[in-house]
Amino acid sequence: MADQTLTQSIAALDGMLFIDGAFRAGQGTRLPVENPATGEVIGHIAAATGAEVEAAVQAARRAFRPWAAQLPKTRAVALHRLGDLIAADADAMARIMTAEQGKPVNEARGEILKLAEACHFYAEEATRVHGEIIPNDQPGFQSLVVREPIGVVGAITPWNYPAELVGWKLCASLAAGCTIIIKPAELTPFTALAIAAKCQAAGIPAGVVNVLTGKGSQVGQALVEHPQVDKIAFTGSSAVGLHIQQSCPQVKRLSLELGGNCPMIVTASADIAAAVKGAARRSFRNCGQICIAINRIYVDRSVYGEFLAGLGRAAEALSVANGLTDPAADLGAMASAEPLEKTRAHLRDALDKGARLIAGGKAPEGADYAKGHFFRPTVLADCTHEMLVMREETFGPLVGVAPYDDLAEAVRLANDTPYGLASYVYARDLTDIQTLSAGLDYGNVAINTVDAGIMNAPYGGRKQSGVGYEHGREGLLEYFNFKHVRLHHGVGG
Ligand code: NAD
Repeated sequence: MADQTLTQSIAALDGMLFIDGAFRAGQGTRLPVENPATGEVIGHIAAATGAEVEAAVQAARRAFRPWAAQLPKTRAVALHRLGDLIAADADAMARIMTAEQGKPVNEARGEILKLAEACHFYAEEATRVHGEIIPNDQPGFQSLVVREPIGVVGAITPWNYPAELVGWKLCASLAAGCTIIIKPAELTPFTALAIAAKCQAAGIPAGVVNVLTGKGSQVGQALVEHPQVDKIAFTGSSAVGLHIQQSCPQVKRLSLELGGNCPMIVTASADIAAAVKGAARRSFRNCGQICIAINRIYVDRSVYGEFLAGLGRAAEALSVANGLTDPAADLGAMASAEPLEKTRAHLRDALDKGARLIAGGKAPEGADYAKGHFFRPTVLADCTHEMLVMREETFGPLVGVAPYDDLAEAVRLANDTPYGLASYVYARDLTDIQTLSAGLDYGNVAINTVDAGIMNAPYGGRKQSGVGYEHGREGLLEYFNFKHVRLHHGVGG
């Protein structure tokens, strides 16, 4: 890590927790954080102790009522300021993210700017959430439905989008009038701490935002079990999400954004060149470590050969490099050895069961790649639902492709999964588009695009992909309780 500024930025956050408006050196065990492109230790996290968890919860509790009592427009000003500060420092924050997560700097910068966008979006929404007056069953009565912030939020996040997945929860909490304790993934603590530094600089009052680092099974679990944490907002694997739901000792609000196993359908009427471009982007961006990555593609048999040849060429053309030294690379290093091993295991399984390798299938060669977790974008053809690549979330740069003979078969195969996060369709025939968008059992259906989400529209999964929403008005409502006030004023009738 030759970059002096980056070294200093990370050193300032090394071993820190952010509690009650201040950074403090954590007292718990230190765990190393590595640059996945080089294996170099770039810093450490301090595993928050029980006393530090308690300090953060109490700080968030003390801050809750005063923050909730602020006018929405006051909270909006703070969020706008936060968005401006984040956007102004996007380059430096992106480099921190790349150093701990591996994605190329340009891609990381894009993510930081999306976080800034979320700040501005929720700043606006903060001023637009209002209650309702609903019709009553007798004269002289009035029913007001009032929205009140839930309270203290525990936000537990994964490593694949270290800024956005923290940011959506943070921005919605702040807009609603909640306070928040963020527990980022062990692999990517410094992005979350850098966001906390921006909250401090934006003048967000002490205790409103807190960041605790450490292991999920300890620090995350402590938040889940704490009686004074009112809601858990979790993004991560379905296994941990289910565990959280089952291990919550009190009744608590939960939103769970979990794993995916996302299908794409390419019909005979599709623009094949556009479908190829979309598939290459959404299967391999961030090394496929995306819950909404395209994991499996079903292609009408009449265009199967053409699509496969195109996708093979597109995959081979993608560059893989150290994302810090090559900021414009298509793929950086994978975040750790674990997703790389899973990718290799899914590849071996598919090849053993008869899949054909069309592109990739190995790590890039050369000294630059020797110490990092790199893998070439990989395309497999003739895949079946006997193969792990078509059944489980790989979370790596690997996609399986299979032909289908009619649309009903394509829908059946696409829905043949316990997951229901995002699905993709490339088609020009309107009847096909209608059949597919109605038939796909997913929270998101993207048609002739692979950018499935926008800030203004709800984003969430079905089945084992989760409960609740982020983004949009729906994402904000997750942070409110409704209160019905029934008033007998005696006027009328
Ligand atoms: P993970 O479930 O292993 O960890 C996520 C977070 O949970 C981490 O902060 C971890 O420390 C914490 N955790 C682990 N055990 C815990 C426990 N017992 N109690 C409380 N917290 C605990 O997930 P990951 O490997 O970091 O991320 C990859 C997964 O996240 C993939 O399955 C991916 O699909 C999913 N994901 C989903 C979305 C979505 O929006 N649906 C977005 C991104 C990632």
